[in-house]
Amino acid sequence: MTPARSRRVVVVGAGIGGLSTAHALLSASTPDLSIEVTVLEASGRAGGKLHSIELDGMPVEAGADSFVVRKPWAVELCKELGLEDEVVIPGSMGAYVWTRGELVPFPDRAPFGIPADVGELLRWQGLPRGQKLRALLDLVRPAARAGGDEPLGTLLRRRLGSGVATVMVEPLLAGLHAGDPLELSAEATFPELRVWERRNGSLLRGARAAARAAREEKGRQPMFATVWGGLSRLTERLVERIGGDRVRLDHPVSGIEPVRGAYRVRAAGRDVLADVVVVATPAFEVARLLSGLSSAAAKELGGIPYVSTAVVLAAYPPGTAEQIPEGTGFVVPAGQATITACTWISRKWPNEAFGDRAVL
Ligand SMILES: Cc1cc2nc3c(=O)[nH]c(=O)nc-3n(C[C@H](O)[C@H](O)[C@H](O)COP(=O)(O)OP(=O)(O)OC[C@H]3O[C@@H](n4cnc5c(N)ncnc54)[C@H](O)[C@@H]3O)c2cc1C
Repeated sequence: MTPARSRRVVVVGAGIGGLSTAHALLSASTPDLSIEVTVLEASGRAGGKLHSIELDGMPVEAGADSFVVRKPWAVELCKELGLEDEVVIPGSMGAYVWTRGELVPFPDRAPFGIPADVGELLRWQGLPRGQKLRALLDLVRPAARAGGDEPLGTLLRRRLGSGVATVMVEPLLAGLHAGDPLELSAEATFPELRVWERRNGSLLRGARAAARAAREEKGRQPMFATVWGGLSRLTERLVERIGGDRVRLDHPVSGIEPVRGAYRVRAAGRDVLADVVVVATPAFEVARLLSGLSSAAAKELGGIPYVSTAVVLAAYPPGTAEQIPEGTGFVVPAGQATITACTWISRKWPNEAFGDRAVL
């Protein structure tokens, strides 16, 4: 039976965003509605910022290395794609801060980098006593009245003081977004912190309640997980499910124009007609592609700042693995070193292929 209606959708960009959109659209086809999907990808590879590679025979990530477990969607996608048995959690727990020339372990229980135990905060070696005492004002200062959003850094510094905020918390939280904490929206990045302030009246009390709830619910649950073999397995599986013939590599989209109630999408010198276009590229590229369709949207999107990041992978000679402390790695407060963070890959994602080499 031919479906009563059909819709042609073009998805621009085969990163995890574009591929999971294409997969969801194809899964939404019904006997009454057929959805035809074409994914157009500029580069010669699907996956975008997810890029698992081999370094001297060792599996490593050139981009993202894990997903956050507290946000359920990546875990659900793994289940949908039949990869649930291959979701792996870090082989080591705990992380460090590189401060004043040494590695200082994070307190044992510190959800979002905020110490759940005031005693542990006071004993923490990474900050002078005065700055730790300042953070305790968070316990007595009234919560801000519920209102609009504020920068993540403003919220943290207002509650915990700039010492604890900039050395303990921001390197972890702002580092995840490679962003300036004074530019990142608290609501968009870590809305839980605003809830803690409102509900618990304090970030330290919120952290304590969150740590207790996590312990009661499921023991100490890791914050991150990945797929065995690397996150590219997720995007490869998505391409398989979508159908490789629907994902066109080396098809950079150069323009989108309206034609008689539909769109003409120009890619690699050819036109593809679509009823709906989903643009899943970085915002500055969406701005460029939408400039002829909506200058207001293009202006907003073009105003979103991006930073350039580089990943350096280092494999040390055999016999070095045990020289790395237990833990997943360290973060660096702004301005204290030329890097923002270091993942101890051979500790965090142990794999026989590493042998006894330290891989960072
Ligand atoms: C070094 C690094 C580490 C990270 N670590 C983590 C992590 O551990 N955990 C986490 O959750 N997130 C992490 N992130 C962020 C995460 O990787 C990204 O948010 C996510 O992969 C973005 O997916 P996307 O599909 O939105 O965009 P992208 O992956 O950027 O995909 C966009 C795709 O669009 C294509 N494209 C661009 N222009 C066009 C065009 N004109 N026509 C056709 N195609 C086009 C690009 O080639 C690309 O394939 C990290 C990011 C980086 C850079």
